[in-house]
Amino acid sequence: MDEILLASGCTGVLAALEGMEHTEIRRLELEHIERPTSPSSTGLLVLDAPDYLAMDADGRRRLSGYLKLLIADPQEPVAHVAGLRRPSVQVFCPSAANVLSEQEAQNLITIIHCLFAQQQMAARLNSYITDSFQTIIDAQIVERQKQEIEKLNEELHSISRVDFLTNLLNRRAFLESLEAETKRAQRNRWRLGEAAGQPLPLIEKVGDPEFAGRPRGDIVDHIGKLSCMVMDIDFFKKVNDTYGHLAGDMVLRKLGHVLQEKGLFRENDLVGRYGGEEFIVVLPETSAQHARIPAERLRKKIKETVFVDDHGHSFSITLSIGIAEAVVGEESTESLIHRADVALYHAKEHGRDRVCIHEEIEPPVQPQD
Ligand code: GH3
Ligand code: MG
Ligand code: MG
Repeated sequence: MDEILLASGCTGVLAALEGMEHTEIRRLELEHIERPTSPSSTGLLVLDAPDYLAMDADGRRRLSGYLKLLIADPQEPVAHVAGLRRPSVQVFCPSAANVLSEQEAQNLITIIHCLFAQQQMAARLNSYITDSFQTIIDAQIVERQKQEIEKLNEELHSISRVDFLTNLLNRRAFLESLEAETKRAQRNRWRLGEAAGQPLPLIEKVGDPEFAGRPRGDIVDHIGKLSCMVMDIDFFKKVNDTYGHLAGDMVLRKLGHVLQEKGLFRENDLVGRYGGEEFIVVLPETSAQHARIPAERLRKKIKETVFVDDHGHSFSITLSIGIAEAVVGEESTESLIHRADVALYHAKEHGRDRVCIHEEIEPPVQPQD
């Protein structure tokens, strides 16, 4: 309410009311008050004594249009303050002439101040609620956008780690993961060293068909072990030259698919495309001898796979595979991959389509202190 119409007597109050901020006070006779043109911005204060209700039907009609009709009894200020907090209108009877005592005028001013304070608080509360809702809505939008961005970032991150042709880890992602795995293996080797001298349990599951034919080993064959396997398609250039580059791509895709098939490698083994027609696998907690098992299975499976190009020509390929096992004191992942590469080229030189283990073709690297 930014305007108060003051009706009837109350001469002594006017001066005090005029000091109120943001409020225009006009003194009107009751019969001169018209229905408000802007109801939300106008309040009406009628000051008079009780026992007299001079308003006729027309007067009530005109007054009823006001947003807040306060007809105050200046002699009972407390009752009115309470009344102001209720939505119902309290009506007191106006009398023709009323001169307020100083105390009554003071009471009245108190009432009016209360009225304004209440309205200002209501307005502040209103804008606080509106702002808060806006803040909540904004926060929800920001949170949704944040989640969206995080999701996109995750997708972008996984896309950037994947080789699009084979769906395997690309070289960079593979090397990053290998670094982490190597560190883990080193930590485990250290833990194993701490436990040295204590009896270690056998992990071989006697009678379990999954373990049939595997080398028997105790926990030392696994904890702290890590093997790296590199493989290269034999005479792949010939595949491209004979059947075309698209057929070559189809072979790479299919090989990527086979490498991801369940049951060939473990879920925490890392499989990547190292480049061209070379692939790389890191097998945590696996010795070179244990890594030979999936390597042989893969070699046989690929050899038996029949590829058919777009023209219906069928052909097959073979793989050469080199394996190296991480050794205590080995400085870098590059040196591990290099040793697996040496084994791979040994396989190439010795007829291709075979699996070679580095430790079998060269004496093991001596541990460093
Ligand atoms: P080796 O048995 O000695 O490994 O013989 P190779 O012919 O496989 O080896 P070489 O290094 O001479 O040839 C590799 C071929 O792989 C040549 C290259 O065009 C092909 N190649 C590499 N990347 C891709 C690819 O993404 N798609 C296709 N179609 N071919 C590829
Ligand atoms: Mg090659
Ligand atoms: Mg090759």
